[in-house]
Amino acid sequence: MSRTFMRFFGGKPKALTFSYDDGVTQDLRLMEIFNAHGMKGTFNINSASLGKVYNDLQHILTAEQIASEYKKGGHEVACHGLTHDFLEKLTDDRALYEIFTDRCNLEKITGSIVRGMAYPWGTYNADSIKMAKAAGIAYSRTTVSTGNFGLPSDWLQWHPTCHHNDARIMEFADSFNNDSPDQLPYDRNPWLFYVWGHSYEFDAAGNWGHIEAFCDKAAGKEDVWYATNIEIHDYIEAYRALSFSCDGELVHNPSGIDIWLERDRRTFCVPAGKTISLS
Ligand SMILES: [Zn+2]
Repeated sequence: MSRTFMRFFGGKPKALTFSYDDGVTQDLRLMEIFNAHGMKGTFNINSASLGKVYNDLQHILTAEQIASEYKKGGHEVACHGLTHDFLEKLTDDRALYEIFTDRCNLEKITGSIVRGMAYPWGTYNADSIKMAKAAGIAYSRTTVSTGNFGLPSDWLQWHPTCHHNDARIMEFADSFNNDSPDQLPYDRNPWLFYVWGHSYEFDAAGNWGHIEAFCDKAAGKEDVWYATNIEIHDYIEAYRALSFSCDGELVHNPSGIDIWLERDRRTFCVPAGKTISLS
C-alpha cells in the first residue's frame, strides 16, 4: 500500500513558526517585522508581570497592549507561568496554580482560548508536564534545539529547531529554502522550522538586522505555511484524527478544518467533515 504523508495547510510541505518569551516591549518591533514579512509567531506571557519594568531592557507590556497588539498580526498569546517561577521546583499545587492562573488571566485579557505554553526558564520535569496537562495546556515549548525540521513527538516537550542566535540559523534557512521533503524518495514527512528567543535580546546584542535578514530570507515562499504554534498543533492533531478504510483508499476528515495529504506524489485536500477517495 502506498504511504500517505501529511501536508500542511494549502498542501504545503513546510511550515515556519516562531516563539518569543516574556512579553517585553521589544515584541512590538519584532511583530512589525513578522507582519511585514507575512509571518506569524507565538508570544509567551507571565501575566503577573504586566506593566513592570525589570531593567533597562525588560519592560513588560501592559494588559491593554497584550489585548490589542498581538492580535493585529494574528499572533498567538500563550502562557509562560504566572510569575516565571521554576515549575519543577514547586509543589504540584503551586505549579498548577502558576500555569492555570496565567492561562485564566491571559484568556480574560485577550478574550480568546489560551492553550499554549513555553516553560519558564525552559526547565520542567514529569510533574510539570502533568500539571500543564491538568491546566488544559495543549503543548509546551522547551529550549532544547533539535537542529532539524522534525515534527514534535510529544506536544508537552515541543523542542524548537534553534534559538535565533544559533550560529547555524542561516544555514538552516538555506537548506529549508532550497530542499524539500517533496524531493525525497522515502520519508516525505513535512518539515517544520521552529525559531525561539526573547525580543529584548535584539536590543542587548544590537542585532535587529539579524532577525530582519532571517525573515527576508525565509519570507514569501509558496511552499511554506507561516503559522502560530497553536495553528500547527491543531492542524497536526486534525491530520492524526483522519480515518482510513482498510485498503487505504477512502479517507474521512472528522475535524472542522480542511486537511491536505500526499500520496504517490499527488496532493489531496480532505475537506472538513468529508470523506474522499484517494484512488
Ligand atoms: Zn521567560
